[in-house]
Amino acid sequence: MHELSLAASIVESVTESLGAYPGGRVLEVRLKVGALAAVAEDALQFCYGVATEGTALAGSRLIVNLLPVVMHCEQCGRDVELAGVQSFRCSLCGKPCFDLRQGRELEIEALEIDEGEIHTDQVRA
Ligand SMILES: [Zn+2]
Repeated sequence: MHELSLAASIVESVTESLGAYPGGRVLEVRLKVGALAAVAEDALQFCYGVATEGTALAGSRLIVNLLPVVMHCEQCGRDVELAGVQSFRCSLCGKPCFDLRQGRELEIEALEIDEGEIHTDQVRA
């Protein structure tokens, strides 16, 4: 199950980052998820509750920030947000696009712990 292993890896990387804050408790984890990462938020929230039990993340909130698919359209010369993941065509000119700029993200954006806030670029789910 995709969401369960994702939840487990979130717990793992967050626990790792907590190493610098002994005794710190996690209040909130913000996750960036691209539309193409195929994550079901309901299932992930459920698995997160299970995976965090008995860890420093127990009782914390998981905020899922869903990012739409963005392609670069050569025809239009700009980045275009796609309406959905079914069609990889520019929503402005209708030309097929292959230059993916956003949509596959699956990473931890920020953590909030009771010691303050850590912003992190290197922690990945
Ligand atoms: Zn276009």
